[in-house]
Amino acid sequence: MSTAEPSTPVAGLDVIGVEKSFGPTGVLRGVDLAVPGGALLAVLGPSGCGKTTLLRAIAGFIPVDRGAIRVDGRTMVDDGTWVAPERRRAGIVPQDGALFPHLSVGRNVAFGIAASATRGAQVARWLEMVGLSHAVDARPHELSGGQQQRVALARALAAEPALVLLDEPFASLDAALRVQVRAEVANVLRETGRTAVLVTHDQQEALSTADHVAVMLDGRIEQLATPAEIYRRPASLAVARFVGETVVFDGTASHGVVHGPLGRYPLANDVVDGPVHVVLRPEQISIDASGSSTVVRRRTFTGPDIVLQLEVHAGFAVTCRAAGDVDVELGDRVGISVRGPVLAYARSSD
Ligand code: ATP
Repeated sequence: MSTAEPSTPVAGLDVIGVEKSFGPTGVLRGVDLAVPGGALLAVLGPSGCGKTTLLRAIAGFIPVDRGAIRVDGRTMVDDGTWVAPERRRAGIVPQDGALFPHLSVGRNVAFGIAASATRGAQVARWLEMVGLSHAVDARPHELSGGQQQRVALARALAAEPALVLLDEPFASLDAALRVQVRAEVANVLRETGRTAVLVTHDQQEALSTADHVAVMLDGRIEQLATPAEIYRRPASLAVARFVGETVVFDGTASHGVVHGPLGRYPLANDVVDGPVHVVLRPEQISIDASGSSTVVRRRTFTGPDIVLQLEVHAGFAVTCRAAGDVDVELGDRVGISVRGPVLAYARSSD
């Protein structure tokens, strides 16, 4: 795609204490978010945690019960303010693109641009931006799913939004295309300097695409941080479990060190001394063919690596990843070593 588009003025987003219930059910339960102008934020959470509801509240499609929403310092919602959706300058990219099937690609993109002598040139510029100049006269059904999503992005950007809201925009694409299209979309958003919120339940998508990730669980933001911080220093056991694979077992923390069934390791995070859940990532565990402290109970070949389930003792097994060509069979005895430091969360805080 083109890299020629100059940056345009940026906007930031603030969501403060937003609450929303449908009947007796609290769906947004005090959501706080701050997205710097020009940044791409991913809201990552499991199905039903309230992501789409949050996006709809920001766009103005639904009223909120409490809280405030500001875009670029301008209040869209608070106790006495309600700005209608069409005046919020939010560009939406939905899951299925939602292009007008009876209009050409060019006319889809022109939809949000006021009629003027330069409208054609603007359409051409946005289509070039998303690498689809050649498709200006095509109908949406003649394009691939990824191309349709790029047209949807061009249509949203062409209206010069203050904020771009993307609701699982890559979910319907197959795996390889998804990786490519999301990288292209993130590039276009960065080149245009737009503030954007991407809703997804795909942790890899959030971690690889966004500048900041907000992990949303059960109607609240559990943690808002950079992708690396979210993965390396999850704020809670729930975040650790949701973002990435974990091996969790009981241990005891004391003076910056944790003791557990796999040994003694330095702590990666602050935790009060006492009983803890110890959390390892599978890549922290490696097998030691010369040892014999575990038995291989499951062996799953994934291509680049093999996922092994290793029984340490009855009722306690750990998962690790080994190189795809490692010579280990079911029932073999192997040793393991753990690369610290490790994460731990107080057991009393459950
Ligand atoms: P998914 O990833 O599956 O799309 P989500 O995190 O986006 O999930 P939401 O679509 O925000 O979740 O829905 C959160 C909860 O709110 C769900 O239990 C849903 O049934 C409920 N909900 C959403 N919209 C409405 C509505 N208009 N009326 C009643 N309940 C609703």
